[in-house]
Formats: sequence, structure tokens, C-alpha cells
Amino acid sequence: MDVLDRADLPFPHSLLEFQRLFPDDAACAAYLEKARWGDGFACPHCGTAGEPFHFENRPGVLRCRKCRKNTGLTVGTVMERSHTPLNVWFWAAYLVASQTPGMSAVQFQRQLGLSRYETAFQILHKLRSGMVRPNQDRIGGQPKNHVEVDETWVGGRTRGEGRGVHHKVLVSCAIEVRHRKPGTKLDNRKDGRYAGRVRLAVVLDRSAESLCGFVESTVAPGSLIVTDDWSGYAGLGKRGYEHFAVAECGDPEVAEQYLPIIHLVFANLKTWLIGIHHGVSHQHLQAYLNEFTFRFNRRFYPFNAFRSLLGIAGDTSAPTYAELYSGQWRHPTCSGHGR
Ligand SMILES: [Zn+2]
Repeated sequence: MDVLDRADLPFPHSLLEFQRLFPDDAACAAYLEKARWGDGFACPHCGTAGEPFHFENRPGVLRCRKCRKNTGLTVGTVMERSHTPLNVWFWAAYLVASQTPGMSAVQFQRQLGLSRYETAFQILHKLRSGMVRPNQDRIGGQPKNHVEVDETWVGGRTRGEGRGVHHKVLVSCAIEVRHRKPGTKLDNRKDGRYAGRVRLAVVLDRSAESLCGFVESTVAPGSLIVTDDWSGYAGLGKRGYEHFAVAECGDPEVAEQYLPIIHLVFANLKTWLIGIHHGVSHQHLQAYLNEFTFRFNRRFYPFNAFRSLLGIAGDTSAPTYAELYSGQWRHPTCSGHGR
């Protein structure tokens, strides 16, 4: 059963409630145990069901009463092999999930009372690595709704380097456009259009291969896609999409009429990247895009993000600190076009 639908896994709606639900490592361990074995513990080694042994000083370990083998509660989650206490991980997930704009590693380090910046950085990054489902499904595919697709340059410092684009990274975006029911309170804003799910990925360039490749990996075939008239999108029709290319998107009124949602997303994304993280290095941009996507797609259900983080985290192999810096580990992308 989806961890999000489980009433026996309470979600804290406030800081006070969080402290009441997760006062210590044992409480966090109990929550993990319940999340993994909703119907009670069953030993992964011998299959025996029944209450396992719990150790007071090792809350993350369960021991089977039959075969006496240990099972780690954090195996397969972002917390695996971490020396950071469960309580700190839960607190971190709660902060990441409930602070709408996200926070920097420095703020995070202070909030968690960690002595080492590296620990805060590592926790944040591992949580972010859990922010994309490994087998993320493609958006669109609903006959009544279309998908806006566009690309934009993100980041980069150009100070003192003259005019033009320096150190900037190209980001592709696809977003579902939905319609409010006529007669509802908000249906007169943007003709009743609003944003559904979003996908964002770093792409190499504005070639047809990069841009159409992004679309193919993120949008369900057959969807109606609206883009500007850049030649890189011209092949979408041949690739199985209904394609509507809008001419003269440089005109703000035209853009507002045909691609209103995606331009809002780009504006929000850039403000978020600059405001929270003071610009983001090229190397980590995809991770931040994943975080933005995670938050955006859950913005109507902010409290689900916490359980979702823990739930998704179970499917994700997290990088070690060394791997993060060696460049060997790649942040999951939704497109396969990350660098
Ligand atoms: Zn056993």
C-alpha cells in the first residue's frame, strides 16, 4: 500500500506535533518499522512473522526471534550506513518538507545543531536525491489538457566578463496546463488555467536532439504540446505528439496568451535558485531542479512531502560524500540528458 495513504503513519502538522511524535531515535525507528511492515515484522532472512527483539542502544536494528539474524531499518533508504542519528534525519526531512522555499546547507546546519557543515550538506543532498522517483512517469497524456514546453538559461555569473552568456546552463521544462471548472472562484485568472505537474532537466544545447529528447522522456506520446516556433521543436509532430508552435513568442502578449504557465515557472525557479542558494554550481544544478520539481508537484499537499521523502528514499540509492564530489555519482534526471 502507498505509504501516503496509511492512516497508521501519522504526519506532524506542526513543530510541536513533530516533537511529540518523534522525541527520540526509538520513536523514529518505530515509525520506520511500521512503514516497512504495516502488518507486523516478518524476518527477511527466514520469513518468520512476529515481534522481533529491539535493542535499547541500537534503535535501527531488529533481531529475529527465530533465526537470530539482524535486520537494519535503514537498509535501502538514504539513511543507510549513516552515523547520523535517526532523530536528526527525521528532523531534516521535516525541515526540507515543510519549509516551502527550501534552505541552504548553512541554515540547515544551524537548525540541526550540527558541528560539521559537511554533515549538513550530505544530509541535504541525500534527501534531495530522494526527490525524484527512479521510474518517474511521463506527464501529459490527458486529452483535455495540453503541455507547455520551453527552455531557459539558468545561473552563471557574468560580472566583469562582458556581454553575452557565460557559465550558464540550459534547462528544459515541460508542464501540464489544467483548467479550473467554469464557475469556480478562480476560473477567471489566466482563463482558468493553472499548472499541473512539472518536469525539469539540464540539457546540453538547443538542438532538436536535446530538446525533443527531453520531451520524449518526460511527456506521454500523443499529448498536445505548445512551444514557441524554435526549429529545435519542429520534429515533435513526427515523434508522435500533437504540436502547436506559437510564432512571435518574443512579444510578451503572445507569450502571455500561449505560454503563460511555463514563464511563471521559470520566474519562480530563478528567484528560488538566487534567493535561497545564492546561485548554484553547474555540478549540482540537476539536484536543485529535482528539489524544485518535488516541491512544485507537491505544493498543494505540503505535509505529504515528509512521508513521501521517507517513502521515496527507500527506492533510491544515495551517494556518499566522496561520490558526490568525485563526480561519479549522478543526480537522477528525468530525461537522461543530464551531464
Ligand atoms: Zn529470521
